[in-house]
Amino acid sequence: MSEVCPKCGLKKELCVCETIAKEEQRIKVRTVKRRFGKIMTLIEGIDTKDIDLKDLAKNLKSNLACGGTIKDGIIELQGDHKDKVKNELSKMGFAKETIDAS
Ligand SMILES: [Zn+2]
Repeated sequence: MSEVCPKCGLKKELCVCETIAKEEQRIKVRTVKRRFGKIMTLIEGIDTKDIDLKDLAKNLKSNLACGGTIKDGIIELQGDHKDKVKNELSKMGFAKETIDAS
């Protein structure tokens, strides 16, 4: 389906607004393997001036039923939640397009 961008009026394939927005707030979700093979899901790139990371981490932890911490502006969740985090963040009002969970 070809949608038109509400910002610039161009078709989504031609418009760069989304690209610009991605650069403004680019959330990256990735998993890392820690010691003893423990998987952690890291959520990076959230602007801490705009968003309360503590609150966000709290919500994610309760929604995903896992433990986690905040380190240097990065939310670390215990376990592999990459697939779910994107959904959870979008439910919290983040644009799915700005979340890179590839
Ligand atoms: Zn546009």
